[in-house]
Amino acid sequence: MSFKENVNLHVDKSAKLLNFSDDLLEHLKSIHSLIKVNVGVVLDEKIHNFTGWRAVHSEHILPSKGGLRYSENVDQDDTEALASLMTYKCAIVNIPFGGAKGGLKINPKNYTMSELRAITKAFATKLINRGFISPALNVPAPDVGTSEREMEWILDTYKSLKPDDINYRGCVTGKPLHRGGIAGRTEATGRGIEEVIREIFRHKDIIKESNLKNELKENEIIIQGFGNVGSNLAKHLYNRDKAKIIAIGERDGYLFNKNGIDINALIEFYKKNENINNPKLGEFKNNPSELLELNCDILIPAALENVITIKNVNKVKAKLIIEAANGPISFEADQKLHDKGVFIIPDIYVNAGGVVVSYFEWVKDISHIRFGRVEKRFQEQKILEIIDLIDKKTNTKTDFDTIKNILHGADEEDLAFSGLEDSMRNAFTEIYKTRKQIKKSFRESAYYVSLKKIRNFYTDEGFPKR
Ligand code: GLU
Repeated sequence: MSFKENVNLHVDKSAKLLNFSDDLLEHLKSIHSLIKVNVGVVLDEKIHNFTGWRAVHSEHILPSKGGLRYSENVDQDDTEALASLMTYKCAIVNIPFGGAKGGLKINPKNYTMSELRAITKAFATKLINRGFISPALNVPAPDVGTSEREMEWILDTYKSLKPDDINYRGCVTGKPLHRGGIAGRTEATGRGIEEVIREIFRHKDIIKESNLKNELKENEIIIQGFGNVGSNLAKHLYNRDKAKIIAIGERDGYLFNKNGIDINALIEFYKKNENINNPKLGEFKNNPSELLELNCDILIPAALENVITIKNVNKVKAKLIIEAANGPISFEADQKLHDKGVFIIPDIYVNAGGVVVSYFEWVKDISHIRFGRVEKRFQEQKILEIIDLIDKKTNTKTDFDTIKNILHGADEEDLAFSGLEDSMRNAFTEIYKTRKQIKKSFRESAYYVSLKKIRNFYTDEGFPKR
């Protein structure tokens, strides 16, 4: 079964509960526009050919939004499936975007930086000239194999092709800060997932139902993937929640430490060595697939799709699975886990933090002002006045160090993370309430919430009222 078929089976299940009509469902599941490009780039006096796609799954709100992936495994079906996940994701967290995704079939590790720049610019030129990248219509962001570096190259390309577009900075998100990016975007997906986990631990009924230990820090956690999402998630869980992460997996194996891995040390090590094989921090095992089968409380696949399938599902021992990656569990495996009583918090909600902060970045770009720029000092002045008033009323004098600690008007990152937390928590409440009402899994409830919101757009646009 293909990735797209997997996603659509989930859509069908929840659409049925909502009594969707067949015509609307068919329209909703279809890809609304798609481009396939072949890019020829001269490197070493030879033409190198690359194939890429950009799929727009929905346009009920514009621009359509979603990452751009560089991987040898990219193909049209996966790109379409990932684009559809973006549609459902944006609806769940109330982000006013349609869903899109793009990909280039390439192993970025095989090319130098200047070669990658030339390839990215050639790919972007094609997409821009055909209307598949623009601040108003279609806005890429980093994904597997891309980062703020690629976004900056795309921005440069867009700016040189459309110099009269005053909103040119909004043509991509996940850019470097000095090019119109937003503070906190790189960490946003990981930080958003941390908010999901914190929210779970605020709901004691879920903890009981899933047999987890009461406090987050008492549970043993495994994370598959130490890329942008996995490492930032691990960093926040370790530093802010004192979480015990007993294993981290990468492509070549996993690091195991029953007492919990020192994540800060691992991040430092990874920066220098680009791998997690550090015997000082744990035992490294060369068998990457074994990771998902280890004893643990919470399993977090944060790498690629389709890692838990019918082949290994019976060996999974986790009580709670947090889908940080897009589509890590196949449809059949999902059913099996559900029947076994394993709690699964689905991708379309869990990893939405990235696009939430992308939205803030895009709003910043088209409004041409940084969040917090005008009110930060005003807020600080008000805090000072309140401290002064309390001092007067109580006849005391607050010392300088205390004032220094309290006095902090919100800067851009504070506001981005505050908006992120709010979006993730509100969405959790909606899914949680829906789950109680329809008495189905978290995934069915998440799709239910999402589809219900999307349907409103169609009835308003003249489709028959249902
Ligand atoms: N690539 C990320 C995702 O799959 C981010 C998308 C975005 O920010 O547009 O959600």
